[in-house]
Amino acid sequence: MRDATRRERKALIVGGGIAGPAAAMALRRAGIEAVVYEAYAGGADAAGAFLTFASNGMDALRAIDAHRLVLSAGFPTPRMSIQSGTGKHLGDVPNGGALPDGTVSQTLKRADLYRALRDEAVRRGVRVEYGKRLLDAGVTPDGGVVARFEDGTEAEGDLLLGADGIHSRTRRVIDPSAPGTRYIPVLNIGGYASGMRVRAEPGTFRMVFGKRAFFGYAVHPSGEVWWFANPPRADEPTGAELAAIGTEGWREMLTNLFADDATPAAEIVQATPGKLAGWATHDLPSVPTWHRGPMIVIGDAAHATAPSSGQGASMAVEDAVVLARCLRDLPDTGQAFAAYERLRRGRVERIVAHGARTSNSKAAGPVGRALRDLMLPMILKRVAGGGSLAWMHDHHIDWDEKVAA
Ligand SMILES: Cc1cc2nc3c(=O)[nH]c(=O)nc-3n(C[C@H](O)[C@H](O)[C@H](O)COP(=O)(O)OP(=O)(O)OC[C@H]3O[C@@H](n4cnc5c(N)ncnc54)[C@H](O)[C@@H]3O)c2cc1C
Repeated sequence: MRDATRRERKALIVGGGIAGPAAAMALRRAGIEAVVYEAYAGGADAAGAFLTFASNGMDALRAIDAHRLVLSAGFPTPRMSIQSGTGKHLGDVPNGGALPDGTVSQTLKRADLYRALRDEAVRRGVRVEYGKRLLDAGVTPDGGVVARFEDGTEAEGDLLLGADGIHSRTRRVIDPSAPGTRYIPVLNIGGYASGMRVRAEPGTFRMVFGKRAFFGYAVHPSGEVWWFANPPRADEPTGAELAAIGTEGWREMLTNLFADDATPAAEIVQATPGKLAGWATHDLPSVPTWHRGPMIVIGDAAHATAPSSGQGASMAVEDAVVLARCLRDLPDTGQAFAAYERLRRGRVERIVAHGARTSNSKAAGPVGRALRDLMLPMILKRVAGGGSLAWMHDHHIDWDEKVAA
C-alpha cells in the first residue's frame, strides 16, 4: 500500500449521515485528513423520523468530545415502560445505561442529529462536498484509492471509508457478491402529535404491544408527543406501494389497527398534523467482507440493525471512533483494518441479531402474542434487575488506549 507515513494521510469518506461526519472528526483527532462526499445536494430529508441515541453512543461521541451536540438537540429518555394493548403493565426497563457523569440515552430528530454532526465536523475543519454520489472506486498503482462520482468527478486519497448507509455502494465495490438487505416483517411510521395530553412520565418511552400492532410514544418537554408505530406486514412492500398509501391512508390504517387497544395510540395518530409516510424495515445480518485494500465499510453499510435495537446510530459512531484509533496506532492500513474488524464484528453482529429478535416479537400472531404476554413480565424483570443488556449499553471506548496489531 501507498507509503503515507511521512505526510498526513488523507481519507475519502463516502456518506455524510452519522458514521461519516463522526469518522471525519475522529480521524482528524488521529492526525488523518478527511473529506466527506455526500450524495445529496443538501441535508438528508428524514421528515417524521426521530431516533434514540443510546448511552453507549453518547460514550463514543464523548471520546471525540462531541457528545454535547446530542445533549443540546435531544431530550433524555432513560426508561421504557412496557404494556400490552389491554392496558396491562408488563414491566419497566432501562433504555440504556448512564455514563459516570449521569448522561443517559437521548431522543432527537434524525435530521437534527445529521445537521449537528456535519456542522461540527465543518467547524473542526472537515470539508464536506455535496452532490457527490459514489459510483465506483479503485486502487491506484501506488496503493492509494480513487473514488469516481456520478457527476463525472474523481477524488484521490490514501483510504476510502464507505459510510454510505444500508444500501451502500461501497459495500459492492469492495465485494461485488456482498449480501443485500433482509426484510423484517414490520413497517415503520412515526410523527409528532400536538395539542393533546397523555399520561406519561417525563423521560419514559411507553411501549405498547398492541393487539394488532406495536406502538411507542414519549412526551417531549414541549408537550409534543413523539410516537412511532410498527404495523406488521409479512411480505415486503415496494416503495411505490407504500407511497400510494398517502397520509389519509396511513391515518386510517393506524386508527383501525389501534381501535381496540386501551391506549391513547389512535388519539395520538389523530392529533398528528402534516404528512404521514411509512417505510419498510430492513437489516443486514452479516457482511463477510468489510475491507479490501485501502477501502472499508462502517456503520449501516457494514451491519445495519432493525430500528428496534435502538442502536444503529450509536454503533455508527462507535465504529467511527474505533476505526480512527486503529488507524492512529497501526500505520499499516491492512493491520489497522484487521484490528478494527477484530474489535467490532462480534459486538455489532450480536446487536443486529438482538434487533431482529425484538422486531419479530412485534409481528407475533395470536398464539405468539399470548405466549409473549405471559413471558414478557419475567423477561423484563431479568432485564431490569440483572442488567442483561449491560453488554450493549455499558460499552466504553477509551480514546487514549493503544490498539495492538
Ligand atoms: C425507522 C428507523 C428508526 C431508527 N431508529 C433508531 C434509533 O432509535 N436509534 C438508533 O441508534 N438508530 C436508529 N435507526 C438506525 C439509524 O438511523 C442508522 O443506523 C444510522 O443512520 C446509520 O448511520 P450511517 O451513517 O451508517 O448511515 P446513514 O445515516 O444512512 O447515512 C448514509 C449517508 O450516505 C449517503 N449516501 C448513500 N449512498 C451514497 C453514495 N453512493 N455516495 C455518497 N453518499 C451516499 C446518504 O445520503 C446518507 O447521508 C433507525 C432507522 C430507521 C430506518
